[in-house]
Amino acid sequence: MELYFLGTGSGVPSKERNVSSLVLRMLEERGTTWVFDCGEGTQQQILNTNIRPRRIEVIFITHLHGDHIYGLPGLLSSRSFQGGETPVTVYGPRGLKEYIEISLRLSGTHLRYPLYVEEVEEGILFEDEQFVVEAIKLEHGLDSYGYILKEKDKLGELQPNKLKELGVSPGPIYQTIKSQEQTRLEDGRIIARSDVIGPPKKGRKVVILGDTRYLPALKDPLHKADVLVHEGTFSGEDKELAYDYFHSTVKQAAHLAKEAQVGELILNHLSSRYQGESIKQLEEEARTIFPNTTIAYDFYQHAIERN
Ligand SMILES: [Zn+2]
Ligand SMILES: [Zn+2]
Repeated sequence: MELYFLGTGSGVPSKERNVSSLVLRMLEERGTTWVFDCGEGTQQQILNTNIRPRRIEVIFITHLHGDHIYGLPGLLSSRSFQGGETPVTVYGPRGLKEYIEISLRLSGTHLRYPLYVEEVEEGILFEDEQFVVEAIKLEHGLDSYGYILKEKDKLGELQPNKLKELGVSPGPIYQTIKSQEQTRLEDGRIIARSDVIGPPKKGRKVVILGDTRYLPALKDPLHKADVLVHEGTFSGEDKELAYDYFHSTVKQAAHLAKEAQVGELILNHLSSRYQGESIKQLEEEARTIFPNTTIAYDFYQHAIERN
């Protein structure tokens, strides 16, 4: 599992930072890629990476501000040209369906793959054998959401020494024993999986938020996330500015990370007023409150390990 930041600036693109988009690559876990927001120019950013639009399975839109959605019709359309045939689901706030339908219809775009658009409300969006994904409401000028991804725990490894003790020699039977709770051996004995398996591998929790004012109440839903991606549009000194424009400061994000006891904090959506050295300062500012903080930059890649 890996986060790949494609655009980490706010509002308008700058030479250093494109507008919002980031990708969660899960090639090992499910062979697909999930995209979070799709600002203008996301396609061009993708061209500079080895991300394959064909592999995109889900796109989550946090809110409908232009710096988060102006690249979406283009990306959906190009994916068709590039031979994408598998379905794509786009989740996002109310109005998203109309935006996509009108953009595709008026531009005469016909996708060669099934596209599903789901307008979200707070709560669980979907659940499969690997993940539960939940949307939480944020506070911004428009309806804005954060997405909480919870990976389910995975079965532990079979313990060969325990199997040997029971006189079961290696072979296809190992896979059978792992795949069911109880297995009857040829000699009639019954092996319980729980007796021969190690501890479960804990699933990861990843939280990716859209634009928002500082919301201390998020500390519960964000509790113990392995990674929190939070906007850090402004420096701590610009608290009023952040409030007025429905954004957060890097310090506020760091406070939330600390309160929620997350593993690490990654800040994105930086105002173009900060560049070069002042970015370093912002990072220092946040680290005084929550040491494990990183300010993302375009094309920053970040592996999320299992603990
Ligand atoms: Zn924004
Ligand atoms: Zn916004």
